[in-house]
Parts: sequence; C-alpha cells; structure tokens
Amino acid sequence: MKTYWSETNDDSFMDLQCNFDFTCPFHGEGSTMVLHDSKLFKFNLDKDKERDLSHAIDVVVRCPDCGYIDIYGVAVSDEHYGRIYERIERYINVLIQEAKQRKIDESPAVATN
Ligand SMILES: [Zn+2]
Repeated sequence: MKTYWSETNDDSFMDLQCNFDFTCPFHGEGSTMVLHDSKLFKFNLDKDKERDLSHAIDVVVRCPDCGYIDIYGVAVSDEHYGRIYERIERYINVLIQEAKQRKIDESPAVATN
C-alpha cells in the first residue's frame, strides 16, 4: 500500500514528507503546487468521550498559475502532534520576546537633565 505521507523527525516542515506530486487539476501533469498554509489541530471523533482525541495536520497547497487550492488532511499520532505543538509554542514565545524587546528598544529615552 502506498503511503502518501511519512512522518519524519528532523525539524522539516511539520515533520511530514509528502510521497506524491501535487498537481493542479486544471494544469495537469508537470504543474507545481506550492505550500500555502497549514494547520495543526485536535478533534474528538466521539463527542461522548472526553479523552480519545485525534490529531491531524491540514496541508494547504495552491497553484501559483490559477490560484486553485487543495487541502490534505493528514492524520498524525499523539506524539507527532505533541512534538509539533511544542515547536510552534517555542517559536511563538520567541516572537513574543522579540516583540517585547523591540518595544523596549523603541521606547523614548528617559530624560536625564
Ligand atoms: Zn492551476
């Protein structure tokens, strides 16, 4: 059975490797879709169960020629989800720290006389 997506653990994009070519249905063979967006999320297949959460990554690709968008929902393991979540959290914390530092750097100097 062909595996369309493989899990990696090498800090690559979302730790996912795509094993097929994205092609635009309007431009066909040889066309190239580009990464447009992605979303990491968890959901509950059975609303009565609080705990059994499933995890997935939506990979959104777009045709640069016509703007056609395709979305692939890739199911991932709890461990995979946790690793990506932590990575995103770390990245967001870096952005917050940088924004705070910019605010400090840009604040007017206190007059000394
Ligand atoms: Zn296209």
